[in-house]
Amino acid sequence: MSVRRPYMYSDLTWPEIRDAIERQPVVILPVGTVEQHGHHLPLDTDNFLIGSVTEEVGRRAPDDALVMPVVPYGFNWHHIDFPGTIGIDVANLINYLGDITRSLAYHGFERILLVSGHGSNTALLDLVARKTVIETGALCASFMYLNIVRGEVNEIVESPISHACEWETSLYLHFDRDRVQMDSAVRDYNIPESQFFRRAVNSPVAMMEWWSSFSDTGVVGDASLATLEKGSDIFDVTIDRFVELVREFRRREKRPRRDHHRPPFFGPEDEGAQR
Ligand SMILES: [Zn+2]
Repeated sequence: MSVRRPYMYSDLTWPEIRDAIERQPVVILPVGTVEQHGHHLPLDTDNFLIGSVTEEVGRRAPDDALVMPVVPYGFNWHHIDFPGTIGIDVANLINYLGDITRSLAYHGFERILLVSGHGSNTALLDLVARKTVIETGALCASFMYLNIVRGEVNEIVESPISHACEWETSLYLHFDRDRVQMDSAVRDYNIPESQFFRRAVNSPVAMMEWWSSFSDTGVVGDASLATLEKGSDIFDVTIDRFVELVREFRRREKRPRRDHHRPPFFGPEDEGAQR
Protein backbone atom coordinates (compact mmCIF):
# COMPACT_ATOMS: atom_id res chain seq x y z
CA MET A 1 0.00 0.00 0.00
CA SER A 2 1.34 3.37 -0.89
CA VAL A 3 0.64 6.49 1.11
CA ARG A 4 1.09 10.01 -0.20
CA ARG A 5 3.64 11.94 1.81
CA PRO A 6 3.27 15.65 0.98
CA TYR A 7 6.11 16.47 3.39
CA MET A 8 8.64 14.39 1.41
CA TYR A 9 10.43 16.50 -1.19
CA SER A 10 10.92 13.69 -3.68
CA ASP A 11 7.31 12.53 -3.52
CA LEU A 12 6.12 15.84 -5.00
CA THR A 13 5.71 16.84 -8.64
CA TRP A 14 7.29 20.06 -9.86
CA PRO A 15 4.01 22.04 -9.71
CA GLU A 16 3.65 20.82 -6.12
CA ILE A 17 7.17 22.00 -5.35
CA ARG A 18 6.24 25.39 -6.84
CA ASP A 19 3.30 25.56 -4.41
CA ALA A 20 5.53 24.44 -1.55
CA ILE A 21 7.95 27.31 -2.25
CA GLU A 22 5.09 29.74 -1.62
CA ARG A 23 4.45 28.44 1.86
CA GLN A 24 8.19 28.47 2.67
CA PRO A 25 8.61 25.32 4.74
CA VAL A 26 11.95 24.52 6.35
CA VAL A 27 13.70 22.20 3.90
CA ILE A 28 15.42 19.46 5.87
CA LEU A 29 18.47 17.79 4.33
CA PRO A 30 19.54 14.68 6.26
CA VAL A 31 23.16 13.60 5.79
CA GLY A 32 24.19 10.14 6.92
CA THR A 33 26.99 7.72 6.15
CA VAL A 34 27.71 4.10 5.29
CA GLU A 35 30.02 2.84 7.99
CA GLN A 36 30.71 0.10 10.49
CA HIS A 37 28.56 0.06 13.62
CA GLY A 38 30.04 -2.85 15.54
CA HIS A 39 29.05 -6.51 15.30
CA HIS A 40 25.38 -5.89 16.03
CA LEU A 41 24.19 -2.99 13.84
CA PRO A 42 24.13 -2.77 10.03
CA LEU A 43 26.21 -0.36 7.97
CA ASP A 44 23.06 1.63 7.25
CA THR A 45 22.62 2.71 10.87
CA ASP A 46 23.21 6.44 10.45
CA ASN A 47 21.20 6.62 7.22
CA PHE A 48 18.34 4.57 8.59
CA LEU A 49 18.10 6.53 11.86
CA ILE A 50 18.38 10.02 10.37
CA GLY A 51 16.02 9.06 7.53
CA SER A 52 13.44 7.68 9.95
CA VAL A 53 13.73 10.63 12.35
CA THR A 54 13.41 13.29 9.66
CA GLU A 55 10.50 11.51 7.98
CA GLU A 56 8.67 11.42 11.30
CA VAL A 57 9.35 15.14 11.80
CA GLY A 58 7.79 15.76 8.38
CA ARG A 59 4.79 13.61 9.24
CA ARG A 60 4.24 15.53 12.50
CA ALA A 61 4.74 18.98 10.98
CA PRO A 62 3.78 18.68 7.31
CA ASP A 63 3.22 22.42 6.81
CA ASP A 64 6.46 23.43 8.46
CA ALA A 65 8.86 20.83 7.05
CA LEU A 66 9.81 19.46 3.66
CA VAL A 67 12.16 16.49 3.98
CA MET A 68 14.76 15.69 1.33
CA PRO A 69 16.20 12.27 0.55
CA VAL A 70 19.11 11.25 2.77
CA VAL A 71 22.59 11.95 1.42
CA PRO A 72 23.91 8.48 2.16
CA TYR A 73 27.69 8.93 2.19
CA GLY A 74 29.78 10.99 4.57
CA PHE A 75 33.19 11.85 5.93
CA ASN A 76 34.56 8.88 7.85
CA TRP A 77 37.89 7.65 6.51
CA HIS A 78 38.95 7.16 10.13
CA HIS A 79 36.63 4.09 10.16
CA ILE A 80 38.16 2.56 7.01
CA ASP A 81 39.98 -0.22 8.91
CA PHE A 82 36.57 -1.84 9.36
CA PRO A 83 35.34 -3.54 6.17
CA GLY A 84 32.38 -1.90 4.49
CA THR A 85 32.96 1.73 5.44
CA ILE A 86 32.70 4.18 2.51
CA GLY A 87 34.63 7.43 3.01
CA ILE A 88 34.07 10.69 1.13
CA ASP A 89 36.77 13.34 0.95
CA VAL A 90 36.10 16.58 2.88
CA ALA A 91 36.17 18.90 -0.14
CA ASN A 92 33.98 16.58 -2.21
CA LEU A 93 31.36 16.42 0.51
CA ILE A 94 31.35 20.17 1.13
CA ASN A 95 31.01 20.88 -2.59
CA TYR A 96 28.35 18.22 -3.12
CA LEU A 97 26.20 19.46 -0.24
CA GLY A 98 26.76 23.05 -1.39
CA ASP A 99 25.39 22.09 -4.81
CA ILE A 100 22.23 20.79 -3.14
CA THR A 101 21.67 23.91 -1.02
CA ARG A 102 22.42 26.15 -4.01
CA SER A 103 19.75 24.33 -6.02
CA LEU A 104 17.22 24.74 -3.21
CA ALA A 105 17.98 28.44 -2.86
CA TYR A 106 17.74 28.88 -6.63
CA HIS A 107 14.19 27.54 -6.55
CA GLY A 108 13.35 30.06 -3.85
CA PHE A 109 13.47 28.08 -0.61
CA GLU A 110 14.67 30.45 2.10
CA ARG A 111 15.18 28.19 5.10
CA ILE A 112 17.38 25.11 4.86
CA LEU A 113 18.25 22.84 7.77
CA LEU A 114 21.18 20.44 7.37
CA VAL A 115 20.90 17.50 9.74
CA SER A 116 23.88 15.34 10.54
CA GLY A 117 23.15 11.70 11.26
CA HIS A 118 26.83 11.02 11.80
CA GLY A 119 29.16 12.85 14.18
CA SER A 120 32.05 13.50 11.82
CA ASN A 121 29.82 15.17 9.25
CA THR A 122 28.78 17.82 11.73
CA ALA A 123 31.71 20.22 11.37
CA LEU A 124 31.44 20.02 7.57
CA LEU A 125 27.73 20.75 7.63
CA ASP A 126 28.44 23.87 9.67
CA LEU A 127 30.79 25.08 6.92
CA VAL A 128 28.26 24.26 4.19
CA ALA A 129 25.55 26.14 6.08
CA ARG A 130 27.76 29.23 6.48
CA LYS A 131 28.77 29.07 2.82
CA THR A 132 25.12 28.78 1.79
CA VAL A 133 24.14 31.88 3.75
CA ILE A 134 26.96 33.88 2.19
CA GLU A 135 26.50 32.65 -1.36
CA THR A 136 22.75 32.33 -1.75
CA GLY A 137 20.97 34.63 0.66
CA ALA A 138 18.92 31.73 2.07
CA LEU A 139 19.06 31.06 5.80
CA CYS A 140 20.86 27.76 6.32
CA ALA A 141 21.50 26.11 9.68
CA SER A 142 23.05 22.79 10.68
CA PHE A 143 23.12 20.44 13.65
CA MET A 144 23.65 16.86 14.73
CA TYR A 145 20.23 15.51 15.67
CA LEU A 146 21.37 14.13 19.01
CA ASN A 147 22.76 17.48 20.12
CA ILE A 148 19.37 19.15 20.67
CA VAL A 149 18.43 16.45 23.22
CA ARG A 150 21.75 15.38 24.70
CA GLY A 151 20.66 16.29 28.23
CA GLU A 152 17.37 14.39 27.95
CA VAL A 153 19.03 11.35 26.33
CA ASN A 154 21.67 11.27 29.06
CA GLU A 155 18.79 10.90 31.55
CA ILE A 156 17.52 7.86 29.62
CA VAL A 157 20.76 5.95 28.96
CA GLU A 158 23.14 4.55 31.56
CA SER A 159 26.40 4.60 29.60
CA PRO A 160 28.36 7.18 27.58
CA ILE A 161 26.87 8.28 24.27
CA SER A 162 29.23 7.69 21.38
CA HIS A 163 29.02 5.22 18.50
CA ALA A 164 27.00 2.03 17.99
CA CYS A 165 26.39 2.61 21.69
CA GLU A 166 23.43 2.26 24.04
CA TRP A 167 21.80 5.41 22.58
CA GLU A 168 22.16 4.49 18.92
CA THR A 169 21.30 0.81 19.43
CA SER A 170 18.18 1.64 21.46
CA LEU A 171 16.95 4.01 18.77
CA TYR A 172 17.55 1.37 16.09
CA LEU A 173 15.59 -1.15 18.20
CA HIS A 174 12.71 1.34 18.26
CA PHE A 175 12.55 1.61 14.47
CA ASP A 176 13.38 -2.01 13.55
CA ARG A 177 14.21 -4.50 16.30
CA ASP A 178 14.60 -7.36 13.83
CA ARG A 179 17.74 -5.89 12.29
CA VAL A 180 19.63 -5.50 15.58
CA GLN A 181 21.69 -8.53 16.62
CA MET A 182 21.47 -7.93 20.35
CA ASP A 183 23.32 -11.17 21.16
CA SER A 184 26.41 -9.57 19.57
CA ALA A 185 25.97 -6.16 21.27
CA VAL A 186 28.91 -5.49 23.59
CA ARG A 187 30.53 -2.94 25.85
CA ASP A 188 33.70 -1.54 24.31
CA TYR A 189 35.03 1.58 25.98
CA ASN A 190 38.75 2.03 25.76
CA ILE A 191 39.26 5.78 25.57
CA PRO A 192 42.36 7.21 27.29
CA GLU A 193 41.53 9.40 30.29
CA SER A 194 42.14 13.09 29.66
CA GLN A 195 40.99 16.44 30.94
CA PHE A 196 41.27 17.97 27.47
CA PHE A 197 40.55 15.26 24.91
CA ARG A 198 37.01 14.05 25.34
CA ARG A 199 34.91 11.96 23.01
CA ALA A 200 32.17 14.54 23.03
CA VAL A 201 30.89 17.56 21.21
CA ASN A 202 32.49 20.76 22.42
CA SER A 203 35.53 18.90 23.67
CA PRO A 204 38.07 21.54 24.70
CA VAL A 205 40.55 19.95 22.28
CA ALA A 206 39.33 18.06 19.23
CA MET A 207 41.09 15.13 17.60
CA MET A 208 39.83 12.08 15.76
CA GLU A 209 42.29 9.20 15.87
CA TRP A 210 41.98 6.04 13.77
CA TRP A 211 38.87 4.32 15.12
CA SER A 212 40.63 0.93 15.19
CA SER A 213 43.26 2.36 17.56
CA PHE A 214 40.75 2.63 20.41
CA SER A 215 37.98 0.14 19.53
CA ASP A 216 38.37 -3.55 18.64
CA THR A 217 34.70 -4.14 17.89
CA GLY A 218 33.87 -0.79 16.29
CA VAL A 219 31.61 0.07 19.23
CA VAL A 220 32.42 2.91 21.61
CA GLY A 221 30.05 2.71 24.57
CA ASP A 222 27.93 -0.07 25.99
CA ALA A 223 25.52 -1.41 23.39
CA SER A 224 24.53 -4.32 25.65
CA LEU A 225 22.44 -1.93 27.77
CA ALA A 226 20.21 -0.94 24.83
CA THR A 227 16.50 -1.68 25.07
CA LEU A 228 13.40 -1.06 23.03
CA GLU A 229 11.88 0.99 25.87
CA LYS A 230 14.87 3.33 26.00
CA GLY A 231 14.67 3.62 22.23
CA SER A 232 11.02 4.69 22.37
CA ASP A 233 11.79 7.30 25.03
CA ILE A 234 14.72 8.62 22.99
CA PHE A 235 12.50 8.72 19.90
CA ASP A 236 9.81 10.74 21.72
CA VAL A 237 12.13 13.44 23.07
CA THR A 238 14.09 13.65 19.82
CA ILE A 239 11.03 14.15 17.62
CA ASP A 240 9.36 16.65 19.98
CA ARG A 241 12.45 18.82 20.16
CA PHE A 242 13.21 18.55 16.45
CA VAL A 243 9.67 19.69 15.59
CA GLU A 244 10.07 22.67 17.96
CA LEU A 245 13.30 23.59 16.20
CA VAL A 246 11.70 23.39 12.76
CA ARG A 247 8.76 25.56 13.83
CA GLU A 248 11.01 28.18 15.38
CA PHE A 249 13.26 28.23 12.33
CA ARG A 250 10.29 28.65 10.00
CA ARG A 251 9.07 31.65 12.00
CA ARG A 252 12.52 33.18 12.30
CA GLU A 253 12.67 36.66 10.85
CA LYS A 254 15.02 37.06 7.91
CA ARG A 255 16.60 40.45 8.43
CA PRO A 256 18.14 42.39 5.53
CA ARG A 257 21.86 43.01 5.14
CA ARG A 258 23.23 46.52 5.31
CA ASP A 259 26.36 47.47 3.41
CA HIS A 260 28.39 50.02 5.41
CA HIS A 261 31.03 50.75 2.77
CA ARG A 262 31.31 54.28 1.43
CA PRO A 263 31.07 54.50 -2.34
CA PRO A 264 32.94 53.86 -4.54
CA PHE A 265 32.98 50.27 -3.40
CA PHE A 266 35.03 47.96 -5.58
CA GLY A 267 32.85 44.93 -5.03
CA PRO A 268 30.42 43.34 -7.42
CA GLU A 269 27.79 46.03 -7.86
CA ASP A 270 24.30 44.57 -7.98
CA GLU A 271 24.90 41.04 -6.96
CA GLY A 272 27.14 41.98 -4.02
CA ALA A 273 24.68 44.44 -2.56
CA GLN A 274 21.88 41.96 -2.49
CA ARG A 275 23.60 38.94 -1.11
ZN1 LIG B 1 26.17 6.07 13.93
